[in-house]
Amino acid sequence: MDRRHFLKIASAAGAAGSATLFSGCTTASTKKEAAASTMSAASVHPDAAMDIPKAKGQRTVIIGGGVSGLTIARYLRQAAPDMQVVLLERNATYQFCPLSNLYMVGGMDLNYFCRSYLDAAKNGGYLYAQSTVYDADLENKMVYTDQGKIGYDWLVIAPGIDYNYASIGVKDPEEEYILRQNYPAGFMPGSEHISLKHKLENFKGGIWLNTTPAGNYRCLPAPYERTCLVADFMKKHKIKGKVIHLDANPDITIKKKGFHAAFNELYKDYVEYIPNFDFQSVDVEKKTISSSFDTIHFDDAAIYPRIRASKLIEKLGINKPGDLQFEADIDPYTYAVKGHPDVFVTGDSRWMPYSKSANTANSEGHFVAQVIANRAKGKDTPWISPHTICFSMVEYEPVESISVSAQYAYDKKKGAFEFANVQLIEKWSKALGDGTIAWGESILGDISGNQGKA
Ligand SMILES: Cc1cc2nc3c(=O)[nH]c(=O)nc-3n(C[C@H](O)[C@H](O)[C@H](O)COP(=O)(O)OP(=O)(O)OC[C@H]3O[C@@H](n4cnc5c(N)ncnc54)[C@H](O)[C@@H]3O)c2cc1C
Repeated sequence: MDRRHFLKIASAAGAAGSATLFSGCTTASTKKEAAASTMSAASVHPDAAMDIPKAKGQRTVIIGGGVSGLTIARYLRQAAPDMQVVLLERNATYQFCPLSNLYMVGGMDLNYFCRSYLDAAKNGGYLYAQSTVYDADLENKMVYTDQGKIGYDWLVIAPGIDYNYASIGVKDPEEEYILRQNYPAGFMPGSEHISLKHKLENFKGGIWLNTTPAGNYRCLPAPYERTCLVADFMKKHKIKGKVIHLDANPDITIKKKGFHAAFNELYKDYVEYIPNFDFQSVDVEKKTISSSFDTIHFDDAAIYPRIRASKLIEKLGINKPGDLQFEADIDPYTYAVKGHPDVFVTGDSRWMPYSKSANTANSEGHFVAQVIANRAKGKDTPWISPHTICFSMVEYEPVESISVSAQYAYDKKKGAFEFANVQLIEKWSKALGDGTIAWGESILGDISGNQGKA
C-alpha cells in the first residue's frame, strides 16, 4: 500500500471515529452536513477552530472532567441557563477513584464506578468534547486542544494532579516510565487501577509494598485504606506474606487511631508499618526501594510518589511562586487566578491546604459554579467552606469503614486555613461501610446525573 493510499484510509477511519467526539452538540441536520462536520474535526490544524456549535450567549470552557469539572459543568448550567458550557476532557469514559481500592480486591465491578461523559453532558445540558488541552492564551481567551482551538468568556481549569517521581529519586524519564508501568501508584483515574487489580490477583505471596508520600497528597487516608484491604485480601485468600507500608511522614496522616487499630487488631501478622521513610531511590530490576538508612525488598508494589498540580498549571505560568507542588495561584475565596478574574482553578490543582478529595472538590464545585454565574451578572458570592467527607474501608465482605467530616476556616493568628468542625469516627462498623457505598453513589449521581450503577 502506498503512503497516499494509506493516508486516505487513515483519514476516513479518523473521521468515523471522531463522529462520537462531541456529545449532543452537532447542529448538522442532514447526513451530508454531519459528514462534513466530522471530516473537519478529523483534519485538525493547530489554528483550526474546534468543531462545536456557536454560543448564543457567554461561553464557559472547563478543562478536565473529574469530580471538579463535572460538578461545575452541571451546576453552572443550572445557575446560568443562558450560558454555553463546554467540558474538555481527554478521556472517553469517566472513572471514579474513591471506590477503586475496593475494586482492586474484587469487592466491586469496574462498571459500578465508571460513567459515560456523553450521558453526563446530556443530563447536565452542556457539551462534552473529548480533547486534550495543550495550551491556553489567557490574555486573548483562547484554549488550544488536539481537536482545535476554542474561545471562552470564562475558563475553569480543573486538570487534577501529576506525579513527581523525582521526589523519590527517580529523575531519568526512562526509569520513571518503567516504574510507572510496573508499579503504578493508582492515584490517577484510568488504567492504573486495572493494572493494580491484575497484580494483586496474580500475587503469589511475599512482600506487597504500599507507600505514602510527603506533602499534601491526593486523598490522605487512601494509601492506608489500600494497605488494610490488601492485607484483608491476603488473609482471606490465605496468601503467605505481608504488606510493608512505607510512610514519608512521621505517623499516619489522618484517622491515625483507626488505622493503627486496624493494622494491630485485624492485620497483626499481615502489616508492617514503617514511618519516616525518606524515599531516595527505587531499583525496579532488583525490586528494592531505599531511604537514607534502609533498603527494602518487595515482590510487588503500588508506589505512590509525591504529587504536584497538573503540569498544565505550570505551563500556563499560573503556579504559586515557591509552591513545591506547583499549585495554582488563586484567590482562596473566589478561586480566580491572580490577575485573571475570568479564569478559575479548582479541584486538586488548588493551593489551599484542603484535603485533596472528591467531596471537597464536589462541594467546592457547587460554590464555584455559583461564583461564575454571579460574576457574569456582575455580582459577588460570599465564600462557603468546602466540605470534606471521607470514608475509609478497613475490611471488605462486608465493607467496614471509619470516617471523617470537616470544613475549613482561616486562622488569622496562624495565617493559614485549618480544619474546622471536625467529626472523626475511628471505630469501624458495617454502618459506615454501607455509608461508604451510599456516599460514592450519591457523588457519582451528583456529578453525572445517573444514580447507581453505570
Ligand atoms: C485510590 C483513591 C481513593 C480515593 N478515595 C477517596 C475517598 O474515599 N473520598 C474522597 O473524597 N476522595 C477520594 N479520592 C480522591 C478523589 O478521587 C480526588 O481528590 C478527586 O477526584 C479530585 O478531583 P479533580 O477533578 O480535581 O481531579 P480528577 O478527578 O483527577 O480529574 C481531572 C481530570 O482532568 C483531565 N485532564 C487532565 N489534564 C487534561 C488536559 N490537558 N486536557 C484534558 N483533560 C485533562 C483528566 O483526564 C481527569 O479526568 C481517592 C482517590 C484515589 C486515587
